[in-house]
Amino acid sequence: MDSDLWLECISCHTKFDARKMIYVCEKCGHLLDVNYSNLDRALEGDWKDKPISVWKYSPFLPKLEHVISLNEGKTNLYHCINLSDKLGIDNLWVKNEGENPTGSFKDRGMTVGVSVAKSLGSNIVACASTGNTSASLAAYAAKAKITCVVFIPSGKIALGKLAQAMMYGAFVLAIKGNFDEALELVQESCERFHMYLLNSLNPYRLEGQKTIGYEIVDQLNWDVPEAIILPVGNAGNISAIYKGLLEWKKIGLIDKIPRMIGIQAEGSAPIANAYKKGDKDVTFVEKPETVATAIRIGKPVNWEKALRAIYGSPKGMAETVSDEEILEAQKTLARTEGIFVEPASASSIAGLKKLIDDGKIERDERVVCVTTGHGLKDPDTAIKSCEKPIQVEADIEEIEKILSKIMRKTMNAYAV
Ligand SMILES: *Cc1c(COP(=O)(O)O)cnc(C)c1O
Ligand SMILES: [Zn+2]
Repeated sequence: MDSDLWLECISCHTKFDARKMIYVCEKCGHLLDVNYSNLDRALEGDWKDKPISVWKYSPFLPKLEHVISLNEGKTNLYHCINLSDKLGIDNLWVKNEGENPTGSFKDRGMTVGVSVAKSLGSNIVACASTGNTSASLAAYAAKAKITCVVFIPSGKIALGKLAQAMMYGAFVLAIKGNFDEALELVQESCERFHMYLLNSLNPYRLEGQKTIGYEIVDQLNWDVPEAIILPVGNAGNISAIYKGLLEWKKIGLIDKIPRMIGIQAEGSAPIANAYKKGDKDVTFVEKPETVATAIRIGKPVNWEKALRAIYGSPKGMAETVSDEEILEAQKTLARTEGIFVEPASASSIAGLKKLIDDGKIERDERVVCVTTGHGLKDPDTAIKSCEKPIQVEADIEEIEKILSKIMRKTMNAYAV
């Protein structure tokens, strides 16, 4: 790592060496940012002409001895005409992060985080996870040839994610507790046993994740959208996207910051609750509950950075949605646009619908919803929330009866 970057406390602004394996300020315990001295040098490079991907934006990322990559990033930005018609808005795009190598945006954070681990000489990495973080870390650790230990809340992670962590060869510890407890335990374990921690408390993870915002602006031909809406769990992603775009604005690459809008599930909404009261502090939720397991988090470690994004961006905001609204939005997105996302991801769509209905988003705002993870991650919830397959005898007469019913039902919808 070269010397033009350092770690800096977001509260007391103490600076630390970028190679130091710390995750919070040694003086006051607050979160750390990765800061750079010479970002404006990037204005001269030819990186802008390259195709999008996480490492396209390397002038804004740490320069590292080892880069561990699975070709993450470069996810599609879908212009969703069917869905925007339905919701009553002129322009809606979906940035579908489920198209990453392990099926979630976590891969953007892990390509940077695991590259840092490898470059610092660490040979064992760890995380606590509601599922996607462990799937992603396990894959990148395999590629980097280092040991991976993941702490998951026992019985509370979606099936696809568990399958991934196991298949990529991580040591999986199923903790008899919730995610927040697993996170506290992995932090203590990392300290005691010198493992490198790769939860989003790790500021290098967020450096990778800020490229979501970079790709969105790049894909819209450098025309910054009015709003970016995304689900919020541990609150790393919203913080990362805001930080990245702020860096671009500071050097004049873009001239405005979008509204940063975070969506949480009603039963796990410490940040949205704080925003609604206008608070600068959050009250943690002791027993978070929601069908959207990826955002079932009561003590978001990045709450302070998230509030910075929500209050710091023009007309930033946070909103809550119910589990019913999440599951409904998941189906609507799949059935209008052919995009299948996991429940947590659908909360961004559910939130958009609610904010349009409440008049908090105007029809002419150009909105990007980030869908964070692939629908196949959580097959159980999908199967439970859809109509069952129709059981039919292997007989053409029986099939005819059923098909004629289906055709009568759908004729109007498909009539030409
Ligand atoms: C991790 C994750 C989130 C939450 O992101 P944070 O950065 O923790 O706020 C949301 N959706 C999915 C699918 C995730 O994997
Ligand atoms: Zn400090």
